[in-house]
Amino acid sequence: MKYLRITIITIMFTFLLLPHLLDFKAEASDRNDYLKIGLKFGSSSVASCTLQSEEGFLLGTAEDRGFAEGMPLPVYEKLVVTNENSAIVIRDENGVLLSSDLGSSGCIMPSDYTDEGILFYEETPYRGGIMLQAKADGTLTVINYVTVEHYVYGVLNSELHYSNPIEALKAQAVAARSFGEMNLNKHSAEGFDLCTSTHCQVYKGYSGEYPSTVRATDETRGELLYSNGIPVTAFYFKNSGGYTQNVEDVWTSRHAYLRSVRDDYCPTYPWSTSLSFDTISKKLETAGYGAGSIRSISIKSRNSTGAVSALQIVGSSSTITLQKEKIRTVLGATIVKSLMFQLGDSYTEDTADSTVWKISNGVTAVTPETNVYLISGDGRATKSQKTEVYGYNGTSTVKLGGTAISEIVTGGSVNFSGFGYGHGVGMPQDSAVEMAKQGFLYDEILKYYFTDVEIK
Ligand SMILES: [Zn+2]
Repeated sequence: MKYLRITIITIMFTFLLLPHLLDFKAEASDRNDYLKIGLKFGSSSVASCTLQSEEGFLLGTAEDRGFAEGMPLPVYEKLVVTNENSAIVIRDENGVLLSSDLGSSGCIMPSDYTDEGILFYEETPYRGGIMLQAKADGTLTVINYVTVEHYVYGVLNSELHYSNPIEALKAQAVAARSFGEMNLNKHSAEGFDLCTSTHCQVYKGYSGEYPSTVRATDETRGELLYSNGIPVTAFYFKNSGGYTQNVEDVWTSRHAYLRSVRDDYCPTYPWSTSLSFDTISKKLETAGYGAGSIRSISIKSRNSTGAVSALQIVGSSSTITLQKEKIRTVLGATIVKSLMFQLGDSYTEDTADSTVWKISNGVTAVTPETNVYLISGDGRATKSQKTEVYGYNGTSTVKLGGTAISEIVTGGSVNFSGFGYGHGVGMPQDSAVEMAKQGFLYDEILKYYFTDVEIK
């Protein structure tokens, strides 16, 4: 009687749960595609490695972004993998041979990989499995074979801290997922899709997961950004300085969804840095531009948002014009933090040096933090950065920006001061956080910064 009751209850539960389970499975099968993440490669490739799983292992094959199960190894908790004459050899911890060659498409999964299984590579826990490539120099490239969703789990906190509002984290999850999906094969020459550094997206595996970032990933499960029905990369960066940029004003090709928008949610992010002409000369040389010793540096043009689009450097042997984002990549993207800059220091009191232009209220140089009203070309006074700005250098009023050559610095060093941080294309993370604080939802945030997109 007792067993019968349990059986009936079990059947009832099965029926109750069945539609839900079927739904979940249908959704899951669409979104369980795997990615190959390079953990150790190039100069960091290893001679051998140790893998651990409390529930044992399962050998199989990675194919079509899925996993085909092969030989189970349930009784082993620790495996040692080596490269022996270009074969990937697996032994147990006592040296007993388990596989004489796993092959380059082979994958070592934890037995419970379908049930949140965790595998330790050396001391670091990862979801998914480990693949290896035997290199000719006797070392191994180590790859984490992980589903896109679990990849986003391991990326999200590194790109936007877990303590941020959930809707900002969800917008970032869509961006991180779209970056992963749109950059398959970025490292194909090395045998995987994406690396774990800022070159791609910072990925820390299971150790990088937090409840809020897992929730943000789950609540946007499988969602990507679409433009004209095609999935696209959701570019992001830290702070816009007031306007985001048209993609062609930063890099090269135009894209309909990457248009400049006025950023009404941008927290102020002023920065200032000084570079000596010697340092600039060395940076140019490293980048392949021999300018000789620097004589002057000037802003040649700005785009419609006020961002610098051409910086001219006159040297003793040649004149170099750096354009768009090249300005930052050559001089240092963490030094010249954005293209929204001017030459000279706008944060100190006026000096006698008339080669350095300053923002002025018409009488003296002032700091932008105070209530500065800028007079635009048509005579209107506004409080924000405008494309046509007039400045005062202590002697006369001049036009800043536009196509006029207005900012030139001679002498031994130059000060860059500006607003914002990053390339300026797509979603500014600081503004996404601000919008979330003001109650906007993640899709509203994405649609504000990406023009005419769908999220699905
Ligand atoms: Zn990379």
